[in-house]
Amino acid sequence: MSSAALATALGQRIGRVVVDASVAASELACRVRRALPEAAWHVRAPEEPAPCDAHTLYLKDFRGRFLRPCPGTSQYRCCGYHILHIGENCPLACSYCILQAYFDDPTLKVWANWDDLEAEVTTALQASAQRRWRLGTGEFTDSLALESITGMSAALIRMLEPFANAVLELKSKVVDLSWLAHVRDPRRVLPAWSVNAPDMVESEEHGPRASLEERLAAAKACAHAGLRVCLHFDPILHYPGWERGYRQTVTAIADTLRPEQVAYISLGSFRCMPQLKSRIQERFPNARYIHAEMIQGLDGKLRLLRPLRVQQLAFVAGLLRKAGFGSKLYLCMESDLVWRAVLGTTPQDFGGLARRLEALAFGDAEGLCR
Ligand code: SF4
Repeated sequence: MSSAALATALGQRIGRVVVDASVAASELACRVRRALPEAAWHVRAPEEPAPCDAHTLYLKDFRGRFLRPCPGTSQYRCCGYHILHIGENCPLACSYCILQAYFDDPTLKVWANWDDLEAEVTTALQASAQRRWRLGTGEFTDSLALESITGMSAALIRMLEPFANAVLELKSKVVDLSWLAHVRDPRRVLPAWSVNAPDMVESEEHGPRASLEERLAAAKACAHAGLRVCLHFDPILHYPGWERGYRQTVTAIADTLRPEQVAYISLGSFRCMPQLKSRIQERFPNARYIHAEMIQGLDGKLRLLRPLRVQQLAFVAGLLRKAGFGSKLYLCMESDLVWRAVLGTTPQDFGGLARRLEALAFGDAEGLCR
């Protein structure tokens, strides 16, 4: 789906835009208004209740922090990146989406007080010019799902251009490359696609998401433009026939990308807060992976039994290694025990995962594990 087609799909989903009065004349609000000419437009006074429905896009004057360290999870190895908080919720509907547990309110939200975001982020980057920042927008929303109407990633790329100490990761399940024309230094933007087994993309990811082939073709286009790309196998799902499904995905990757075009690849087994399980069962009764054998991990989240996790992660890692991507792999939110069983090493062996991923993101390190 092109950027224009995505904007059309979003126009069908978003019937109303509510904008806080204080940001009604902002550049972002004007952009959205032009992109969604059919949507009803409402300027919200401060005393009015905030909207709460899935068909409304709320352009908000956000008063929280725009830049924050990823909270990771207790007891497991975290990758140490910083969240660039640009909004909440997502127009896609993946059955396993963790946002279902994070937010009760389904309203799509975008922070429209760009000046505040810019001031906070640029002040932080200037104040610590010695350190390097891995920034990403894909924590509380999909980085590119609303790009066709907000242009926010393109604006972030322009904003971060003067900061040689920052790389921006754009993590998505859609194909919108409109931001690519704004990239001046290809080393500083890392387009990233979540990948899964083709049958899981088909049955568990809904809304205007791209197929696996489309995501990989977009990754290839970015690589041809000189950018390195990231791939996230997250969540790896346990269902009858998973071996075949993930083998197909690795084959498709190996047929499309060369290892040197990839910055890193994460592998993350499905995990969720206990309350999300019943929500998934309720909303997506055909989701099969939810019936796999799970336990409550040290961080309180449900996850696949460790032997099954190790088996699955080792299987996918083995295929990626054979295809030449072994040096790019890391595990998302796993213990040292699982690291050693799957990759034969632990983050401690190479100075910590956050440090190594930072080096890989900036393109100045050898890989993690062979
Ligand atoms: S694309 Fe990501 S944020 Fe959007 S519904 Fe799917 S898992 Fe959730």
